[in-house]
Amino acid sequence: MIEYIPYGRQIIDESDIAAVTEVLRGSWLTGGPSVGEFESSFAAFVDADHAVAVSSGTAALHLAMLAIGIGPGDEVIVPTMTFAATANAVLYAGGSVVFADSLPGSLSIDPAHVERLITRRTRAVAVVDYAGIPAELDPLLEICARAGIPLIEDACHAPGATYRGRKIGSIADVSTFSFHPVKHLTTGEGGMVTCGDPEIASRVRKLRNHGIGTDFRQREEAGTWEYDVSELGFNYRLSEFSCALGVSQLRKVPTWVADRRRIAARYVELLSGLPVRTLCEPDDRESSWHLFPIMIDGNDAVRRRAEAFRSMRAASIGVNVHYRPVHQHSLYTASRGSAASDLPVADDAYTRLLSLPMWPGLSEDGQERVVAELRAGLISAG
Ligand SMILES: *Cc1c(COP(=O)(O)O)cnc(C)c1O
Repeated sequence: MIEYIPYGRQIIDESDIAAVTEVLRGSWLTGGPSVGEFESSFAAFVDADHAVAVSSGTAALHLAMLAIGIGPGDEVIVPTMTFAATANAVLYAGGSVVFADSLPGSLSIDPAHVERLITRRTRAVAVVDYAGIPAELDPLLEICARAGIPLIEDACHAPGATYRGRKIGSIADVSTFSFHPVKHLTTGEGGMVTCGDPEIASRVRKLRNHGIGTDFRQREEAGTWEYDVSELGFNYRLSEFSCALGVSQLRKVPTWVADRRRIAARYVELLSGLPVRTLCEPDDRESSWHLFPIMIDGNDAVRRRAEAFRSMRAASIGVNVHYRPVHQHSLYTASRGSAASDLPVADDAYTRLLSLPMWPGLSEDGQERVVAELRAGLISAG
């Protein structure tokens, strides 16, 4: 049996297990001290003033949209090259999604296209650090400042990444993270919102707990039962054992990011000479490489990608495709009225993309096997 190489997966060690077990033996399973501990250690890690833990990356995006006031009639510009959750969060809040195209080299949102899409109804711009490479944040911040609207960063791919010396999570008006097992650190399911504005942080805190301003522990301490539901919130809380796992995982993230960066550099070497392109990491930023997508060259990429995907999966290599541009999904084509798009860079990229395995446990031998199977798959496709 040859070993299956997944495209990404968690690493759990004995210290993680001990951290979770300790919580299970204690009195608080939710709403206790681990939540605050995870929030403050995450805030310190990304250099943010405020961090609020929530139940998923999607919940983080939803609450980020609500906290900046997105509602019916509001347009939010969203990159089409992302996971659907970035766009769906706008719909949850009642807003409408306006898709922006990608830059060809990095596949991150194209600031010039964003600028052309701004209208009187635009209330925010969302950006994704695709694959872990920080997007064009300064140009986007300038565009947002001119329009008087906030920048929301879906940073689910980029904890530990830096842009012009600043940490991702401390740059946009609001940033969101996911702790799904394929991401940089995991809490099973989980997410985080980071921001500099205390009012946004306190709105997110309230909305994650049914729109109630105080939590159970605060009421216990104040000796009162009384609480007020002042707006429509949700139960988006993250459990104590999830947060304890997060604290324990977070300690290892700097090493894991270094591992991911080493694996990416090695891929670039191993892939030279193959008819594929890798994404470029500009000199002024450091990617934390959540994914390692490649783009297959040539006119016949659709067929050759399908053949490489099939033969690599058959050889126990968990390749994947990230992403089908969100505007191509039927949920979104239905409201656009036609499948034709004005997003040519993302549409073309989707015909060529293939994500190679990328996670800190991937060995050098494993990487060589991935590239050998890719070469074989491309050759057999002709
Ligand atoms: C993973 C991911 C999400 C969603 O996170 P969940 O924790 O799975 O809800 C959103 N956006 C991007 C870009 C992601 O990669």
